[in-house]
Amino acid sequence: MIKNSINIKNLINESENSLQQQFTELEDICHHNQKKVLDAFLENKVSPEHFATVSGYGHDDMGRDVLDKTYADVFKAEAAIVRPHFVSGTHTLACALFGNLRYGETLLSVAGRPYDTMEEVMGLRGNKRASLIGHGVIYDEVPLKNGLYVDLEALEQKMTTNTHMALIQRSRGYSLREPITMELMKKIIDIIKSKNPNCICFVDNCYGEFVQKTEPLEAGADLIGGSLLKNPGGGIVEAGGYIAGKKEYVEQSAMRLTAPGIAGDGGAMLNQSRLIFQGLFMAPSITKDALKGALLTAKIFENLEIKTSPTSTCTRADIIQAIEFGAPEPLKSFCLALQKASPVDSYLTPIPDDVPGYDDKLIMAGGSFIEGSTIELSADGPLRAPYVAYMQGGLNYHHVKIALERVLPQLIAQ
Ligand SMILES: *Cc1c(COP(=O)(O)O)cnc(C)c1O
Repeated sequence: MIKNSINIKNLINESENSLQQQFTELEDICHHNQKKVLDAFLENKVSPEHFATVSGYGHDDMGRDVLDKTYADVFKAEAAIVRPHFVSGTHTLACALFGNLRYGETLLSVAGRPYDTMEEVMGLRGNKRASLIGHGVIYDEVPLKNGLYVDLEALEQKMTTNTHMALIQRSRGYSLREPITMELMKKIIDIIKSKNPNCICFVDNCYGEFVQKTEPLEAGADLIGGSLLKNPGGGIVEAGGYIAGKKEYVEQSAMRLTAPGIAGDGGAMLNQSRLIFQGLFMAPSITKDALKGALLTAKIFENLEIKTSPTSTCTRADIIQAIEFGAPEPLKSFCLALQKASPVDSYLTPIPDDVPGYDDKLIMAGGSFIEGSTIELSADGPLRAPYVAYMQGGLNYHHVKIALERVLPQLIAQ
């Protein structure tokens, strides 16, 4: 895969040197987003008493209310709900979907098939009765153009006055399709609203937070949701998710998480508030470092004439870096070497295995402090052509760079 004659140290340094312009742009985005987050903390007078915890029903939890308001301000929302009680990103998004869709209403997925775990929420596979389709929701999707791009013409044709909600997945997820930049997001939402101003534009914001200077609500979306084990958790939040947007839709989602009548007004925060505040505060710079690591990875593999997506010159819209190895062995070697360069579980060997719901075996690498955290450096890929590794995260740029220093020699002469 890599020729023996290549000097890896030079390759990494030259790749890094050629990225200075892009790194400067990322610093600028980070500065902008850090200011936005700091100002939300000031505006909401975040103080130590908001870190204290209450027990039981969690009534009168001041910290919880201030946390919601701080998130709402950062994401330019009327309201937000930020909770450790969301067990994952999937659960968070499911609350927003079930909370806002009723029997006979139509959900349209704008960017083709949604993220793998969301297929079961929709009812495209798995337990149908428990799914949205099982609850009478009509699901439809706009197929991708050439399997890679959002098809705006087809979206315009599919949208009707009966489309109750549109699901817009910002990130590529584990596919080679392009993530949605805020510029494209605005175009998509404008098309949806021109066909039906009442359609709820709901953005799956996973992996997208703080990658650009604006967020989907600023492009006209009505509701967003994401996981605290990804960008907005800043690598330190132990569990949870957030939903933000129009008050009415956030409330409907909250009632799905808890119960009608309780919505966001109950739920003890179990001593997680300080971590969630602090994670949000760290999120812009953690996301920036993950992006710098992704860019370096793209540049190095491009210099080796291995296909990457996005390329090192694209505008980034999420933190995922895909590397197309074209053969199973280098994909496995890449994951093994990455595992060996992880701070936790470095001695484990990732082995391709069956994962429920996937046709092909999957290989996963990542030794993270928080189980399953993918804002920490991690990679995975299905064992099928074109043998793509999807890499993301990195709590600091130097860790990603060191990992690459150790991964690349393992790819020599494969
Ligand atoms: C991670 C992710 C999800 C699901 O989040 P989990 O925490 O893995 O359940 C949904 N959509 C996208 C785009 C994601 O990246």
